[in-house]
Amino acid sequence: MIEDISSYPYNYLIPGLLVLATPLLLRLKNSSSSSSVGKMTSTAPEHTVVVLGAGFAGVPIAHHLLKRTPANVANVRVILVAPNDAFFWNAAAPRGFLPVEDTSSSANPKGTPGYGDDKLFYDIAPGFAKYNQGATKRFEQLVGRATSLDPDRQTINVTLLAGGKVQTIHYDTVVVATGSDTADGMPFKIVPNGGTAETKAALAAYRDQVRTASHIVVAGGGMSGVEVAGELGSVYGSKVVGGSAPAAPKSQKKDIVLVINEPLPLGTYGAKESIRQTAADRLTSLGVRIINNSKVTAAAPSGTDGKKTTLTLDGKDGKTSTLATDVYIPAVGITYNSQFLPERLLDTSSKGQRRVRTRKTLQAEGYDNVYVIGDAANLMPPSIKNANEQLEILAVNLQAHLANWAASQSGAKKNGGTAPATVPLKEYATSDTLILAVSTGPAGGTGQMGSWKIWSLLVWFLKARFMGTEKAQDYANGNRLMMNTKW
Ligand SMILES: Cc1cc2nc3c(=O)[nH]c(=O)nc-3n(C[C@H](O)[C@H](O)[C@H](O)COP(=O)(O)OP(=O)(O)OC[C@H]3O[C@@H](n4cnc5c(N)ncnc54)[C@H](O)[C@@H]3O)c2cc1C
Repeated sequence: MIEDISSYPYNYLIPGLLVLATPLLLRLKNSSSSSSVGKMTSTAPEHTVVVLGAGFAGVPIAHHLLKRTPANVANVRVILVAPNDAFFWNAAAPRGFLPVEDTSSSANPKGTPGYGDDKLFYDIAPGFAKYNQGATKRFEQLVGRATSLDPDRQTINVTLLAGGKVQTIHYDTVVVATGSDTADGMPFKIVPNGGTAETKAALAAYRDQVRTASHIVVAGGGMSGVEVAGELGSVYGSKVVGGSAPAAPKSQKKDIVLVINEPLPLGTYGAKESIRQTAADRLTSLGVRIINNSKVTAAAPSGTDGKKTTLTLDGKDGKTSTLATDVYIPAVGITYNSQFLPERLLDTSSKGQRRVRTRKTLQAEGYDNVYVIGDAANLMPPSIKNANEQLEILAVNLQAHLANWAASQSGAKKNGGTAPATVPLKEYATSDTLILAVSTGPAGGTGQMGSWKIWSLLVWFLKARFMGTEKAQDYANGNRLMMNTKW
């Protein structure tokens, strides 16, 4: 099923004709019993689903396929392709920029608010081991990035993270769940130039810098920027919001600055002004200084040892200023991971931002065996909630897709090619209702549901106290979604 084209020893001997026949050979190899994922025991036909991406959408759908596909429908085999071999609970990443202190010795007034790797990263392989017991090997993990996908030949080239070799894999069905990255390669997501280890290293470097810094600048008025500033303010700021804990002692105080290119934070989501004002007030109360209507347009090393960063700020009033800091944390911008797909599959409009043109059935336009989910689909703004709602539809649709495929296989055999009845696919209902919960440190935050404000206590209860990490291990093991505990 998998061809390592860069290390194949007899490549140079293969005549051109054989090269042209490669797709056919790959198909034959796929259905042969000597597959690299092991012998299948059931008599149902084999079907390979490749899941691209191991984030909030990819990991659960890979589990669901392996757990829930009836053995008499299809001998489903899943190949999970992603650069990360650990599931990154990136919703808690804003807390991961802060050092994890030792509770017993810390002078930190709020205990240990920083999150280490144990709270943020969850090995993927152990959760899937149960599908590969005995002779039946139904799951395979490729640690690398898809670099091209040919929807007509049903092949994907994957560049492996270790060594950079390219492998070509064939699929019967593919799920594109490659999500998004944050600008400047920041470790709010798996970093674009690496995988789990590189993302951990990038976060560790920030923790080290934050520990010794006396001045930190965060740029970006979206959720990531507000949440990082909130975490920093909660630990190192000079004031406290509504809690009994004392403000940071003088020895621990740092100047925390948030630069936003609008009057108030959270503008990009269309949140109400009163909620944006609450976010700003909460940060200010924590001791975060907000520089509004300004954009960081350049960042250059400075200071005698080059350890400082001097930022250039362009104000909306036309004025330019500079700001020197010990640590600069850009939390601006998002790019969608669709570079490996043919241009015709992408929504190149300014709203689409090169996400995949996706039908309400969660199939890519033009290809019934290419499914798309999460941030990579152009249906809804990026959020875990939206990805989770899409998962509920995708899970049903993939089962219908497999049943239809199996019926077409047996129908073709029995009736000399007569098309069997098809199980209809469900449609995902998009919605304009804004749901936003933004933490400003472990003590709470603010948010909006429709036109209603979400009170800080509820944000604390639902999000801020653990940043969802209490669900992470079960989520990574395929036992649950955010709300659905019977996945
Ligand atoms: C700091 C931060 C905090 C957030 N907090 C919240 C929150 O509290 N609530 C909320 O609803 N949303 C939140 N979000 C948004 C949320 O993280 C995303 O909506 C969610 O991660 C989308 O899941 P996904 O699986 O579609 O994509 P991702 O989580 O981006 O996962 C994509 C996967 O694909 C992999 N990949 C990338 N390129 C390739 C490739 N070429 N080939 C193979 N694999 C590839 C990636 O490494 C990753 O494994 C937050 C985002 C950030 C940045």
